[in-house]
Amino acid sequence: PRGAKCTRCREQAVVALPSHHANFCEDCFRFFFRRSVQRAMKKFPVDPRETILVAVSGGKDSLAVWAVLQDLGWKTKGIHVDLGIEGFSEASAEVIDAFARQRGLRWERYALQETFGYTIPEIQKRTRRKICSVCGTLKRQILNRLTFQQGCRVVATGHNLDDEAGRLLGNLVRNRREYIEKQYPYLPSTHPRLPVKIKPLYRVSADEIRIFCRLEGIPFLAQSCPLSRGATSHTFQEALQFLEQKMPGTKRDFLFSYLESKEPPKPVEDFGTCDQCGQPCYGTRCSVCNLLNQLKEKDAARLQASGGREG
Ligand code: SF4
Ligand code: ZN
Repeated sequence: PRGAKCTRCREQAVVALPSHHANFCEDCFRFFFRRSVQRAMKKFPVDPRETILVAVSGGKDSLAVWAVLQDLGWKTKGIHVDLGIEGFSEASAEVIDAFARQRGLRWERYALQETFGYTIPEIQKRTRRKICSVCGTLKRQILNRLTFQQGCRVVATGHNLDDEAGRLLGNLVRNRREYIEKQYPYLPSTHPRLPVKIKPLYRVSADEIRIFCRLEGIPFLAQSCPLSRGATSHTFQEALQFLEQKMPGTKRDFLFSYLESKEPPKPVEDFGTCDQCGQPCYGTRCSVCNLLNQLKEKDAARLQASGGREG
């Protein structure tokens, strides 16, 4: 914004935020960004003594949420799930390690293969299901398990305004009432083995996060997962982005007006317990055990067909 003054301090502005009718200098933008996260955290009933487990991928969102939670004084620990995707997984771990060292943050890496016996590409070869939905389910369960192993109860993810608004639009278009009901940036635990889930970045947009990372000098992994293939959720986000450009503030209005109209979800225990692994699930067997059983059966059948010659 050439010549524009910072809305907060009247210095030369460097960031224009039409959706907030504001221009900011670097410092005031950083202040604005942290305050947005702080506002989100104030809405969540999380005890300040808790250690928050942050699910980190190495992308801009997860590193930004980790950085700001640390800045705001929360105790955090990073958890990264190594999906075993050649090139991509190594690059993710390097970025996370560099970031964590720079800020003196603790983190741990867990290989999907060690927990479930397969990497994501190995699963992709063995199933016709959409790999991203399988990957999402597996990551979710690993995070749930790890939270308890680590003695923690709260997991934070990097979902931002664009993610949440896009998801809401998609759910409304398809009238998925159950999902709409449950869409909230704070989810209480609904099973003794389920952590509380929070999305501290739901008030800031992807663009704002990119600016924040640039100003803070946070180098994030820009490369996206090679297995992602134009998810439909991106199309809904693009549609909202189109409206945003015509009418700045639309994305926020859309998501916030919806969130304000509803009560935060109550901790109803609506889950059963998997009879195989003890994890929460609908019914008696969780989708992860179902999937793994299928994969193992297939592998056993293949081994038998080859007369046991393959290792
Ligand atoms: Fe998993 Fe990659 Fe799909 Fe993301 S894009 S859900 S990391 S397979
Ligand atoms: Zn199970």
